[in-house]
Amino acid sequence: MKPAAFDYVVAHSAGEAVAALAGGDTQVLAGGQSLILELNYRAARPARLVDINRVPGFDHLGVTDAALRVGPLVRHSAFADLDHGPLGTLLGRVAHHIAHPPVRARGTMLGSLAYAHPAAEWPAVVTTLDGRLVLTGGAGARTVAAADFFTGPFGTVRRPDELLTEVRLALLPVGTGVGFAEHRRTHASFAQLAALAALTVRGGRVDEVRVGLVNAADRPVRARAAERVLLDRPLDPAAFAEAGQAAAAEDADPRPQPYAGTAYQRHAVAVLVRRALDAAHRDLAPTGG
Ligand SMILES: Cc1cc2nc3c(=O)[nH]c(=O)nc-3n(C[C@H](O)[C@H](O)[C@H](O)COP(=O)(O)OP(=O)(O)OC[C@H]3O[C@@H](n4cnc5c(N)ncnc54)[C@H](O)[C@@H]3O)c2cc1C
Repeated sequence: MKPAAFDYVVAHSAGEAVAALAGGDTQVLAGGQSLILELNYRAARPARLVDINRVPGFDHLGVTDAALRVGPLVRHSAFADLDHGPLGTLLGRVAHHIAHPPVRARGTMLGSLAYAHPAAEWPAVVTTLDGRLVLTGGAGARTVAAADFFTGPFGTVRRPDELLTEVRLALLPVGTGVGFAEHRRTHASFAQLAALAALTVRGGRVDEVRVGLVNAADRPVRARAAERVLLDRPLDPAAFAEAGQAAAAEDADPRPQPYAGTAYQRHAVAVLVRRALDAAHRDLAPTGG
């Protein structure tokens, strides 16, 4: 199908984009990798699109005050070869799992967060890493913790007149191992389930730990029960399996999917969490953990 008719506005500054959104019934065109499909299927019929692709500076990606700052036009592919220590390594590994190269070349991290697809990787990553999201509207900017941003499938606290202008992710400490494990039905499909892990070890024990789940509930999951299993314990594959079981039993809240019942999904969560932790452990091995 073809999209229903809409007005098209090109913004040249954040202010112009916010002014267009204030007009009502307007959607932001970033990478277009989700929105254009919705327009073509007429699942979305906004009166107007505001294209932000020509706003100077919106592709900023850099570290200030020990936090990586990501602008609205940073494409998934920009994370492929990022420096910035363990955080850069984790983002690179995750980006590799998003769709395929043409989608990664256009789609943006902030577009993915705003869209909040339940099987998207970035929402779980920013939630697990305690990311901060900056929303800018006519009344100014506000900052929302990622844990408070997602409200359900395709649901966020973003108001229709607000532009997501930045995401901030604190750098991970040196001595952190990171891992990501995903299960998907075909090469370029969305994740059926995925898990990420970041383990910081001091004095031979797990000093900080973050575990997250993709598509294991109606919103991104920080797997706190799995983290409790690991905290202050020596690195030990038996503990990783135990953490996987805890994530499956206590952190995941799966909905039935067309190709996977909830029991299968809980089993897969246990396996993926263990694999993500194993990968994080391998990262630490060269330095002796
Ligand atoms: C074949 C295919 C496979 C895919 N596989 C995956 C996958 O495995 N994992 C995954 O995570 N994604 C996947 N995607 C989706 C892709 O990651 C999209 O890029 C992403 O969901 C949306 O980003 P975008 O920049 O393209 O946003 P757009 O499509 O431009 O916009 C999406 C929505 O977000 C809003 N929006 C965008 N930017 C902003 C902003 N800065 N402020 C406020 N609102 C905004 C738009 O108004 C729109 O409602 C896939 C897409 C395709 C076509």
